[in-house]
Amino acid sequence: MTIKLYNSLSKKVEQFKPLKGNEVRMYSCGPTVYNYAHIGNMRAFLFADFLQRVLRTVGKYEMRWVMNITDIDDKTIRDSSIGSKEWKSEMGEQTESAKDNLKKLTSFYEKSFIDDITKLGINPKHFFAMPKATDYIKEMQELILNIIENGYAYIADGSVYFDVNAWRKDDKYGKLYKIDFDNFKSGYRIDSDQYEREQASDFVLWKEFKENEPYWDFEIAGKNYPGRPGWHIECSAMEYVLLELPFDIHTGGVDLKFPHHEDEIAQSKAGYGIEPTAFWCHNEFLEVEKRKMSKSFGNFFTLRDLIKQGLDPIDIRLAMLSAHYASKYNFTFKGVAAAHKARVRVQEYIYYVWELAKGKVSNDFSGKVEELRNKVFAELADDLHTPRALAAMFSFLNDAQSNNLSVNEAQQMLGFLTEMNDIFAAWQISEEKAKPQSAPQDIIDIANERLEAKKNKDFARADALRSKLSELGYLVKDSKDGYELIKN
Ligand code: AMP
Ligand code: ZN
Repeated sequence: MTIKLYNSLSKKVEQFKPLKGNEVRMYSCGPTVYNYAHIGNMRAFLFADFLQRVLRTVGKYEMRWVMNITDIDDKTIRDSSIGSKEWKSEMGEQTESAKDNLKKLTSFYEKSFIDDITKLGINPKHFFAMPKATDYIKEMQELILNIIENGYAYIADGSVYFDVNAWRKDDKYGKLYKIDFDNFKSGYRIDSDQYEREQASDFVLWKEFKENEPYWDFEIAGKNYPGRPGWHIECSAMEYVLLELPFDIHTGGVDLKFPHHEDEIAQSKAGYGIEPTAFWCHNEFLEVEKRKMSKSFGNFFTLRDLIKQGLDPIDIRLAMLSAHYASKYNFTFKGVAAAHKARVRVQEYIYYVWELAKGKVSNDFSGKVEELRNKVFAELADDLHTPRALAAMFSFLNDAQSNNLSVNEAQQMLGFLTEMNDIFAAWQISEEKAKPQSAPQDIIDIANERLEAKKNKDFARADALRSKLSELGYLVKDSKDGYELIKN
């Protein structure tokens, strides 16, 4: 089925087709691993995951999906520095080496990131690569040398800057985002990785070494410029190495349009002579009470906060996916509870269809499953319209015809539900009602530990764990195949 996507570059919905064969090469700006990602960040990663799942299942494409890990930038350096309040004992001891400390902090949060996205239903096996910026310093330096050689970068005070004015003489700066050049500060240089549109100016490609910061040697025209890369150059170099240019789709949150993605376009074109990608796809914000969820506003939840409060990550996933990615999504506990109900409704239907499918095969065939599939897939193919796709699904479930499937149709329905799950990753496609759907993984872990203690006849421990579960809001009932968890 042909997929249509909104392209932030053309500002239109366009028909999507891979540039080469049947393979879609997609790059997603990944997390900056200086702390736990909040669920606003997670919206961006869930959007990218959903998009790649729709491309696989509805578009029938092969995927080459890359998501980078930013393990060097202003924030990772700040929080790994000696004396940082953000340092945790689990990261190990800090040493005199700034590079060592950076590695310890970023490895710790990279691991927690992979744990979190896995809980949210993203399958790490779906990534072709998750490159870390510090593994591509050489490639970044090569790109910077190209940009200097082509006349679009200069050295000042030991750092290298992109020369926006020189670039604007030959190409457009502001392809994704309208920049106010009346207030453009010609020759003004900005060192921070993140800045506002009003500060549009020459941005840093390579930052001069500062005392107690990690650095790499960089030889330019026979002279060493020890330092470290700017944030924007990281993505330009990694996508070039892992996907070749131009690739098919680049994703990220809307806040990355400027400066990050705008700068990426300028760097890649100025250095490699090619723009990075055919499609730029951006997700809107997740908000709390009408304000972007952000670490700096202090209005954020991490996934582990929410799990502690008894929410199931897969309900959070479905709640987020239920909104269209290009609309703002207002996060509420009520919204997650509604997603939970919807999820259980489909899960019960899966068990029911499984029963139906066991009957004797007949030739009774009305075409209604195919009709439903076409409808749901057509909505998803239309710029990932999940609200309409889910509405079509629930309208079918609420209709008497959903209960009126022949054995043939029930089997066909199981096939469709499996595909739905390849996309939404929210259900269990099995006839087993065994393990509870609604308990978060932390709770299941405790219940498993209790089962183990019981098997080992350590009843005191088993009782203690039962009390702990009860405190966390779960009753545990022993059953013949283990246990059942019931929410208080
Ligand atoms: P960062 O780790 O800050 O580079 O952000 C990782 C991703 O999260 C980027 O694609 C951001 O655009 C995205 N992001 C940050 N805050 C939000 C939010 N409140 N809602 C949706 N996406 C966000
Ligand atoms: Zn990026």
